Amino acid sequence: NNLTKEDVLKKAKELNVKFIRLQFTDILGIIKNVAITVNQLEDALDGKIMFDGSSVDGFTRINESDMYLKPDYDTFTVFPWRPKEGGSVARLICDVYKPDGTSFGGDPRQVLKKILDEAKEMGYEMYVGPEPEFFLFEKDENGEATTITNDQGGYFDLAPMDAGQDPRRDIVLALEKMDFEMEASHHEVAPGQHEIDFKYDHALRTADNVATFKFVVKAIADSHDLHATFMPKPIFGENGSGMHVHQSLFKDGENAFYDEDDKLGLSQVAKYYIGGLLKHAKAIAAITNPTVNSYKRLVPGYEAPVYLAWSSSNRSSLIRIPAARGLGTRLEMRNPDPSCNPYLAFAVMLKAGLDGIKNQIEPPAEVLDNIYTMNADRKEDLGIESLPSSLKEALDYLVNDEVIQSALGEHVLEHFLDAKIIEWDIYRTQVHQWELDQYLRVY
Ligand code: GLU
Ligand code: MG
Ligand code: MG
Repeated sequence: NNLTKEDVLKKAKELNVKFIRLQFTDILGIIKNVAITVNQLEDALDGKIMFDGSSVDGFTRINESDMYLKPDYDTFTVFPWRPKEGGSVARLICDVYKPDGTSFGGDPRQVLKKILDEAKEMGYEMYVGPEPEFFLFEKDENGEATTITNDQGGYFDLAPMDAGQDPRRDIVLALEKMDFEMEASHHEVAPGQHEIDFKYDHALRTADNVATFKFVVKAIADSHDLHATFMPKPIFGENGSGMHVHQSLFKDGENAFYDEDDKLGLSQVAKYYIGGLLKHAKAIAAITNPTVNSYKRLVPGYEAPVYLAWSSSNRSSLIRIPAARGLGTRLEMRNPDPSCNPYLAFAVMLKAGLDGIKNQIEPPAEVLDNIYTMNADRKEDLGIESLPSSLKEALDYLVNDEVIQSALGEHVLEHFLDAKIIEWDIYRTQVHQWELDQYLRVY
């Protein structure tokens, strides 16, 4: 769709919209919004709505705090779970601009747009399909989230083992009303864990969809008196929640990753893209796995990747090539988790892939064996390295990777690092229950 200003005004009238939420995402990936009433909609569509950016995390300094929101008309949609009585609630996803009319460097959505433009200059469009996983937890008597799962189900289970079928159904129905093309939904491996997949799309649209998906899941779960969380590893000893990211490049309407004459059906472009992703994977992790908790998921034994390798067949590697060929040719990057900012995550992965194409970075040979069960010597022989094992390690790689830093731009990089270094320091100086259990009596 390519909605005009008039289309949006007309739709708002037809759908009896009273409130419009103007949404954007902060650097840490948290969605933010301000509600206006419909009489302000025309001004909003003209980009005339201003807000004070100084209180948004990582956004700006106090002395340059006025920001303008410029809506993307195509993102107009009504929240189906909000009341209709007295007028319904719609939203528009916005880009953030400075008062002088230039784009604001701390806006993650525009960071992604910038890298998409770089790809376009090389003739490529990026398509992305994500697989977000999440947990549903019970709330306690005060309405606070617990870590008690609402069921003991496992992979692909049915009710009554699967107590997520009703919330999942309502989530799927709500998203369909918001123009998502829904694919599969199912119980995941861990108790209380679920996955809902929607169709791949242009990278920007998919990033908008991921941001939307997360708050819709939370809102619908809440209406079932459950807490939905995208925290990567909420329960020790159980699978964590990933967000595998399927990605492909198209050129002139053709899938640029496909080559029917190649033994694996993969083009040289696809191989360079893989080469770029693997070269920059450790710095990318700081963005795709941006929390202290993210690294507790990236350990052997829970279907999450640990090793820097690619494979057309096995899931123990970081990058897997799903079987589809032709238009569906794509790669699946398996380390991202749903705590990431989708705009920044897609931006850095695309940047790495483009770097691979520009500099003709050949990937290492694909690894066909299960890497989880390989011994250290064999891994060393094959030159298989590991992902960073902590947020701190990942940040150190980011600080040393100019390509990934340039993708983020100065503003996002500086504020992201500031926030994450503080986060790490707070974590590192806590005394955890595990330490007390381990040391209190022994020493
Ligand atoms: N939950 C797994 C992870 O942490 C992924 C399971 C799957 O393959 O869907 O990435
Ligand atoms: Mg899954
Ligand atoms: Mg997958």
